[in-house]
Amino acid sequence: NEPVCECNTCYTGPDCSHFTPHCRVNADGGDPLFLEPFWIQHSTSSALLVSGWNRMSYTYSDNTFFSQQLESLIHKLHAFVGNAITQNRYIVFGAGSTQVLSAAAYALSLQNTTSQSPTRVVASIPYYTLYKYQAEYFNSEKFKFEGDAYTWKNISDDGANVIEFVTAPNNPDGRLNEAILDGPNVKTIYDRAYYWPHFTPIPAPANEDLMVFTLSKLTGHAGSRFGWAVIKDETVFNRMVTHMQINSLGVSKDAQFRAFKLLKAVLEQGTGIFDFAYRTMKTRWETLAATLSSSNRLSLQKINPQYCSFYNEVREFSPAYAWLKCEREEDKDCYAVLKAANIIGRQGNVFGSEDHYVRLSLIRGQDDFDILIERLKKLVSEEDGAR
Ligand code: PMP
Repeated sequence: NEPVCECNTCYTGPDCSHFTPHCRVNADGGDPLFLEPFWIQHSTSSALLVSGWNRMSYTYSDNTFFSQQLESLIHKLHAFVGNAITQNRYIVFGAGSTQVLSAAAYALSLQNTTSQSPTRVVASIPYYTLYKYQAEYFNSEKFKFEGDAYTWKNISDDGANVIEFVTAPNNPDGRLNEAILDGPNVKTIYDRAYYWPHFTPIPAPANEDLMVFTLSKLTGHAGSRFGWAVIKDETVFNRMVTHMQINSLGVSKDAQFRAFKLLKAVLEQGTGIFDFAYRTMKTRWETLAATLSSSNRLSLQKINPQYCSFYNEVREFSPAYAWLKCEREEDKDCYAVLKAANIIGRQGNVFGSEDHYVRLSLIRGQDDFDILIERLKKLVSEEDGAR
């Protein structure tokens, strides 16, 4: 049988019960296993049975690669949560938002008909580094990664076309970023992976030209590889569909079926998954903040509470990641400080930032989080002059 158990870092064995005491705790990757307990509770309503002869064709009966039933469920979900306006918008699916983001960059760079030079791809620091990696890896004549959006703020009219990635809430620091650049040559891709009540108050439904979402951070099923874009412009939509066809002939129908079943279960539970996810993330954030409250050495990002239209009240923020700063001048390599304490985070430079910063993932399984807190407590208790 295929193993179903996914062990947390410090546990091994067929049922993940063997604890390795001095292991390095993984606070690096954004594996959203914090949602596993919710799905254990809703095992039956979310289960799939797929017979060998099911869903063999490339396409659906309407000859497209995208399930219309899943698309209408996505519309319903956004309407229920109120996190995005999707009426009269086009929707494109991809293998995770990773594929959708690259399709979006291709589609928008094809709109560059006036300039000879490649479209400039930018994001504000600290940024999610995939945008950079993709632009560099695809090495296209159409676009080139050009770093921090702020650098280009006052260079408005050099005629170059620009794609700005805006991550809201931001990975790594959880802020509700807004576009830095503006103008006729600027196109914006809003990465809304974390724009769910789990991680942030929802002040209003997002209504941008191109917004990208993912199942990974909504239901936690990162391994299903399913994401989608909500698009205003028909030409951009058609270009993204073409990209999907040439790149992978659409999206796995098995992944679409899984997404359908999960989103249906989400909607059947009303506010259930959002209540669970927010409670978990908020408790983790409070635990982390309390752990670091006596430290002079390590500090956390601060974001003020905001009104949330989903819960109709002012809510604290409950970010997916801690954007930790090592405050001491000598702790230039904050990653090394944490590594010495058996904690693996992600270096600030990966996000275009200084190495005084490290990102710690707060969305992993409970065991990983608990061990992270234990290790941080020890690190803080060993500080000279801790408050
Ligand atoms: N955007 C952001 C901001 C992310 O943090 C991630 C995952 N860490 C992704 C996109 C990609 O996620 P996926 O491909 O699983 O949808």
